[in-house]
Amino acid sequence: QEALDKGLEKTKEGFFSKLTKAVAGKSTVDDDVLDNLEEVLVTSDVGVTTTLKIIERIQERVAKDKYLSTSELNGLLRDEIQLLLAENNSNDFRNFEYGDHKPYVIMVVGVNGVGKTTTIGKLAHKLKAEGLNVVLGAADTFRAAAVDQIKLWGERVGVRVVAQAMGSDPASVAFDTLQSAVANKEDVVIIDTAGRLHNKVGLMNELGKIKNVMQKVIPNAPHEILLVLDGSTGQNAFEQCKQFTEATDVNALAITKLDGTAKGGVVIGISDQFKIPVKYIGVGEKMDDLQLFDKKEFVNSLFK
Ligand code: GDP
Repeated sequence: QEALDKGLEKTKEGFFSKLTKAVAGKSTVDDDVLDNLEEVLVTSDVGVTTTLKIIERIQERVAKDKYLSTSELNGLLRDEIQLLLAENNSNDFRNFEYGDHKPYVIMVVGVNGVGKTTTIGKLAHKLKAEGLNVVLGAADTFRAAAVDQIKLWGERVGVRVVAQAMGSDPASVAFDTLQSAVANKEDVVIIDTAGRLHNKVGLMNELGKIKNVMQKVIPNAPHEILLVLDGSTGQNAFEQCKQFTEATDVNALAITKLDGTAKGGVVIGISDQFKIPVKYIGVGEKMDDLQLFDKKEFVNSLFK
């Protein structure tokens, strides 16, 4: 909770200073306060759809009770936000559903620069610390630096990395990684993929091909398709989430760089609109700066 509080400091400060201004000089929640609140939520990157949903619920409450003091507003907001966040059922880094056999396979997707490689490295570190054997597959063969970066993280964390030459077939790297992980009885495979979004059909085909090849080794792989989004990019993160969820079956989200932004509201909007659980959040550049998302703790941090 402490690290989370620190990671969300900027969001909290931004949100509350705006919220305080929104209710300044008012004792009851009236239309002005609601207008101000709407602006606070939108400018914290909660997103218009989710903001309107929250405002509507508060309006209903005001209509029902005929009166809502501004001092009650925080509590109400907190409850509504918690209701809107999708539940993350993993409360433990080890909490994997292996299906018939190991390894658990995570395919990581997302555009370049969002923190994909860093998240993979941090996750490998956490899992290793939990006593699991982890192997990384460098299937982003499109960027020269991507393979090197994954290798570097592998060395830093002390986990095996499967890689081929730059420009080789990503599906072939994924296949090799899974096959060797099965042979070595490793617990978790994390596959990096190229983050190109220039055209959706291309992306869909590429990710589809990697999935098909994985399933030749493990029929229900990948168990997890983790989309990494940069929490400081606001509306871009929404757009990327839309594109990737249309291209493949994303079932978990990692939202990075929450430490550097006052726009952590993006977590709320994305979770509400896409109904995909935020599983991990990135709150810094270091190996330990990855946390399992817990909506209760998140809301506690925001409203502390
Ligand atoms: P990729 O292109 O998506 O693989 O992105 P990288 O993993 O290379 O990360 C891009 C930059 O973002 C690097 O400088 C990382 O150190 C930084 N970064 C990644 N995650 C976080 C985070 O949670 N917080 C902060 N402050 N920086 C991060």
